Amino acid sequence: MYFSDKTVVFVNGKFVQAKDATASLYNQTIHYGNGVFEGIRSYSNPFGTRIFKAKEHYERLRESAKKMHMKFDYSVQDLVDASYELLKKNNLTDAYIRPVVYSGINMKLLPSNESNIFIGGWKWGRYLGNKLLNVTVSPYERPNPHSCHVEAKVTGHYVNSILATTEARKRGFDEALLLDLNGYVAEGPGTNFFYEKNKVLYTAPLGSILAGITRATVMEIAKDLHLEVKEKFFTTDELFEGDSAFFTGTASEVAGIASIDGYKFPLAWENSLGNILAQKYKQLIKTGDYTHSTII
Ligand code: PMP
Repeated sequence: MYFSDKTVVFVNGKFVQAKDATASLYNQTIHYGNGVFEGIRSYSNPFGTRIFKAKEHYERLRESAKKMHMKFDYSVQDLVDASYELLKKNNLTDAYIRPVVYSGINMKLLPSNESNIFIGGWKWGRYLGNKLLNVTVSPYERPNPHSCHVEAKVTGHYVNSILATTEARKRGFDEALLLDLNGYVAEGPGTNFFYEKNKVLYTAPLGSILAGITRATVMEIAKDLHLEVKEKFFTTDELFEGDSAFFTGTASEVAGIASIDGYKFPLAWENSLGNILAQKYKQLIKTGDYTHSTII
């Protein structure tokens, strides 16, 4: 599903066959989770195949690497160009692009001198599907921002996401919603979270969440539409008086939520602010001329 015999991937500046791309079993990322990555999407639209917010994603990758003391020797533009080349070589248009910066051989608890980059791409549908989601509040909290850099997209942080998702699915829910260390609502395992109350949208402030690029995009769209968005800490008690809710993320786009722990949001999704933002987001990714520099 992620690659075939013909798939080509980018490794350390070169395009190689995915089936031949390897990494040492002694590399630090496997043992300790010290690696950083991104999740990016490209769309086929009237302007050609376009990578949505490519620069923003590679800038976040660079900042994540910096936070984890990993060498990052590429320019953002080189990586954007390599990603377009990757799409071309694999005949991909609507695709998911996965860059990972991983360490070299190193069993110490110190950063590696060696740093590698992999970029792969594959076709991937909307990660959380197209149906409204039944969500549960997870018993797993988001990682404590005093014990790691939660604003960095670090491979090891995703152990928390895997645990929360697995636990939610075991109890029959579609997705988990995680609280922060103080018990406020934070985000999903791979998405940011918004809820609507009396025509105002609320989302957690930065601190215990990933600064989502989709979150920022949706907030920009809301501003253009003169919709009010407030970044504030809120509890599940406040959430259970909300009118509607949704997740945002590159892989999931804008995903509407039907219920949380049995609390059914009273506003029909079609009439919610989330739906307006979902439509506008779709319009932007499918028809927007958002990359001026590189066009296939
Ligand atoms: N939070 C977490 C924990 C994530 O993994 C993601 C996906 N990268 C997001 C939020 C959404 O971020 P973005 O909109 O940049 O994809």
